[in-house]
Amino acid sequence: MKKTALVTGGAGFLGSHLCDALLRQGKSVLCLDDLSTGRMENIAHLAPESSFEFIRRDVTEPLGLGQFDIAEIYSLACPASPVHYQHNPVKTIRTNFIGTAQVLELATKINAKVLLASTSEVYGNPLCHPQREEYWGNVNPIGIRGCYDEGKRAAECLMMDYHRQKGLDIRIVRIFNTYGPRMAKNDGRVVSNFIVQALAGEDITIYGTGEQTRSFCFVSDLIAGILIAMESEQIGCLPVNIGNSAEERVLDLASTILRLTQSQAKIVFKPLPADDPQRRRPDISRAQTVLGWEPRIKLEQGLRETIKYFEEICLLRSDTT
Ligand code: UDP
Repeated sequence: MKKTALVTGGAGFLGSHLCDALLRQGKSVLCLDDLSTGRMENIAHLAPESSFEFIRRDVTEPLGLGQFDIAEIYSLACPASPVHYQHNPVKTIRTNFIGTAQVLELATKINAKVLLASTSEVYGNPLCHPQREEYWGNVNPIGIRGCYDEGKRAAECLMMDYHRQKGLDIRIVRIFNTYGPRMAKNDGRVVSNFIVQALAGEDITIYGTGEQTRSFCFVSDLIAGILIAMESEQIGCLPVNIGNSAEERVLDLASTILRLTQSQAKIVFKPLPADDPQRRRPDISRAQTVLGWEPRIKLEQGLRETIKYFEEICLLRSDTT
């Protein structure tokens, strides 16, 4: 019997790409998602696969799953876009804490390996630049991003405590801004917003001055990093940054997307949301040296693929997601 990989949040943007990659590796995949931000259309192409199974479930509810021979768990369940995770912040922090605790209890019971999809948000509005894994971060615990930032920090803490106290084999990957096909049209994050706006000829909404920076990683690079981190023995159980270290101003991202889409849309400036980090760039030396991983896809190449996706798949459809 093939060992099963459980992917929580498997119908989401990253989760669905991860399910694809695990199936390509010849594994059986059990995809769990409550479809709060995940979408069936992301995994519809996997329905005919005999090694793929989908269960609609919230990770904060009892997981059950005793009938499956689960060898590894990828814990991705949680809305990741600020608009979505702030929509129901209580649910967000519960998903991160209770959901992770449930996954860890299950893993302990069946002796499975667990990988947590953590985030660059654990660094908050960072005072150290670029961000190394040793940096403890600068997070506002009572702000509107706290449900996600502190939720992920608590999830990391739980992971480390289950490792130290119960000997669980764990991996923590800190994911920096990732983009690519299967982002939802209403995702709310900067890359999808700008592309959708540019293609529709609507105003490009820059929050604040646009001087703030992010470092954008294409989804295929991110998934490769996750797979290598899960396999690697050398990484130990300490967190590793997975992201692209090419840092971009939001203003420059807008110009690039306008150029690539040949859009006449105009840029408008909107208020900067509270606690929006000013600068973000991963230091990926640990991933490079320990995992032998680094991103390959340059921003323009990744943006072209993402633009094509939104042109071909989303804008031709009548739905709004
Ligand atoms: N942003 C923007 N316009 C948008 C969406 C986002 O200017 O339509 C900015 C946002 O304020 C932030 C950056 O783009 O400074 C990245 O935001 P995103 O929501 O993609 O992810 P974050 O890194 O903040 O979690």
